[in-house]
Amino acid sequence: MRRREFIAGSAAAAAAAAAGAAAISRADDAPQPLDGDEGGTILGPRNEPLERENPDRLLPPTTDAGYLPNLKFSFDIAHTRVSNGGWARQVTVDDFPIAKTISGVDMRLKPGAIRELHWHDAAEWSLMLAGNARITAMDFAGRNFVADVGKDDLWLFPAGVPHSIQALDEGCEFLLVFDDGAFSEFGTFLLTDWIAHTPRSILAKNFGVPESAFDRIPADIESKRYIFPAEVPGSLRSSEVHSPAGTIKESYVHRLSDTKPIDAPGGRVRIVDSSNFPAAKTIAAAIVEVDPGGMRELHWHPNADEWQYYVSGKARMTVFGAEGTANTFDYQAGDVGYVPFPMGHYVENTGTAPLRFLEMFRAPRFEDVSLNQWLALSPVDLVRAHVPVDRRFISALSKRKQIVVRY
Ligand code: MN
Ligand code: MN
Repeated sequence: MRRREFIAGSAAAAAAAAAGAAAISRADDAPQPLDGDEGGTILGPRNEPLERENPDRLLPPTTDAGYLPNLKFSFDIAHTRVSNGGWARQVTVDDFPIAKTISGVDMRLKPGAIRELHWHDAAEWSLMLAGNARITAMDFAGRNFVADVGKDDLWLFPAGVPHSIQALDEGCEFLLVFDDGAFSEFGTFLLTDWIAHTPRSILAKNFGVPESAFDRIPADIESKRYIFPAEVPGSLRSSEVHSPAGTIKESYVHRLSDTKPIDAPGGRVRIVDSSNFPAAKTIAAAIVEVDPGGMRELHWHPNADEWQYYVSGKARMTVFGAEGTANTFDYQAGDVGYVPFPMGHYVENTGTAPLRFLEMFRAPRFEDVSLNQWLALSPVDLVRAHVPVDRRFISALSKRKQIVVRY
């Protein structure tokens, strides 16, 4: 197979000359969609940093064919809603049309800042990326919940359950994942929005107080909240409110540090789904770490689309879409990837640092099918009737799922 990597510097000039384009070649290190006799240099406008981040789009591997929908987006080009308490940016199906099953939000709260009391029609799964926060919730039976969360803690609020998030002394940033691609974090049911749009006489009647109790509420209160500054709260105990119905039994928090990783040859994976985090009934996660040189093996998922979030490192993924179609995408920290059900794929660490990313599914359980394991557990003659492989290949097949390989 031909080498398809950046042709840089003098190599680029030589390649351009070979392609008969010497007269208009540029003496720089810019990557080019040029591979021997194929392709040519870019003469028109270009965004070179973007091209360098996406080398497999500029010059796909020769095994790529056909045309898949875009399977990459980034929080870094999403609209950011900025407020005096922090900010939020989201990737929904409007930004990333293929992502129909899941949407995501990246949110920053300064110390003490509050993500307003609210609820919504999607379940909310969360991962703390940095810092710490206090979360509260109450269910339909009047059972309440309060907990503090820190880096690498997960939490989950079922659809319709009202909740809040308040940063503690460090401030925080977290990822939110919703089990609906059309969900908008900017369209949730906010406490102040409802208060502002309910007649004062109704508020008075509902809460059993005179209308004057609401005199100090500004008419535009709902425009001042969503994310807003506040004092850092005191101890967790000071935030506990006794409920006669008790507390929510099924914890809304899962500490990733309590989840034993599955060690793999090229990294490790932590699976968090309804089997070990019972509140996560509709959202399953795999937190994957791929060491330099390692690769999340060729596999697919038999139960759902996959929504990815890249936490750190660099990766390349080729998605196989049947009918001779395969497209390759490159990812960096802050990017979102997507794999439609049940397309085959791998995720290779293309950097020199560890790669960490999330595989998220709108499903109760994490499920994947390994190509290697499938072939290992099929009759040898049947496999060899399909592909002319030698004995080394057959003896290297693994009856146990490798998950993350290293060669
Ligand atoms: Mn929420
Ligand atoms: Mn996958």
